[in-house]
Amino acid sequence: MIAGEFEFFAPKTLAEALTLLHTHHSGCRLLAGGMTLVPVMTLGLAQPGVIVSLNHVSGLDGVEDRGTTLRLGAMTRHATVGSHPLILEHAPLLAAAARAIGDVQVRHRGTLGGSLAHAEPAADYLCATATLGARFLLQKHGGERWLSADAFFVDVMTTALAPDELLSAIEIPKQAAGSGYAHQRLRRVEGAFPTVLAAAQIAPRGGPARLGLGGVAPRPVVLDIGEVLGNGVTPAALDEIGTRAFDAARHALADLNGSTDYRRAMARVCARRAVAAAADMLAPGGR
Ligand SMILES: Cc1cc2nc3c(=O)[nH]c(=O)nc-3n(C[C@H](O)[C@H](O)[C@H](O)COP(=O)(O)OP(=O)(O)OC[C@H]3O[C@@H](n4cnc5c(N)ncnc54)[C@H](O)[C@@H]3O)c2cc1C
Repeated sequence: MIAGEFEFFAPKTLAEALTLLHTHHSGCRLLAGGMTLVPVMTLGLAQPGVIVSLNHVSGLDGVEDRGTTLRLGAMTRHATVGSHPLILEHAPLLAAAARAIGDVQVRHRGTLGGSLAHAEPAADYLCATATLGARFLLQKHGGERWLSADAFFVDVMTTALAPDELLSAIEIPKQAAGSGYAHQRLRRVEGAFPTVLAAAQIAPRGGPARLGLGGVAPRPVVLDIGEVLGNGVTPAALDEIGTRAFDAARHALADLNGSTDYRRAMARVCARRAVAAAADMLAPGGR
């Protein structure tokens, strides 16, 4: 049960939603899929005086082809992200991340924007969007700005969103045809958040190669591994990538799911597996 009263608004347009945020921003929370907000309110950890639901705002969901990028509305549900033909073709790493989330109910209610705005460090989308070089569109009454993942994710469950801003869209660069990718996650209980994640995105023929790590720092960590793979995906290269992941996780936060040492060790394992799996998808001689 949710104790405490709140006013509830269900605007139908983005302009209305932004005006409501502008008017009520201090005690206001946006409601997307409610998969995180509702339990948090039920536990009494948040008691907003005003809720603005984004569920009836037109134009905030869906996937558009914008030439060299895909633009995804913040209210796009995980189930859609995981199965949309444009995402499967041009950013399949993101689709793999979406399909790995929670269970079928969570995937049909939860949204891309809700997960990114909540910014749980081990959330599947944080690692995937940062690895893919995504940009984030923040809008408010009378203004908007685009941020990189590096600028958007600030700290544990903290983003650059101001109280009167909402995340309205996410732009993902289309990945080169023939790229390899992998989304590796370690979770200890079915349906739960992962403890450590690694995402690899490797372009063919010496193109960009990136490794993202999640759950090992307050924000996603992205390593450029193009140079390490200069002589191909050799055992020595995988060793070096494992060592870099282990180093990058040196400040991993400890919790009930794992100590700092455990997360570092698992970062090494997940990183090696992600890069090896992504490399396996490249055509022979593709790197
Ligand atoms: C059982 C269970 C298992 C889960 N397992 C996983 C998992 O394995 N991996 C994983 O990554 N996640 C997992 N999740 C989290 C899930 O992905 C949620 O969908 C997500 O964290 C929140 O998205 P939401 O759309 O439900 O947002 P909400 O709960 O509605 O909102 C979350 C927060 O974001 C704010 N917000 C929402 N939308 C916007 C916006 N557009 N702009 C600005 N602020 C906004 C809200 O005000 C609120 O503070 C799980 C959740 C549950 C309940």
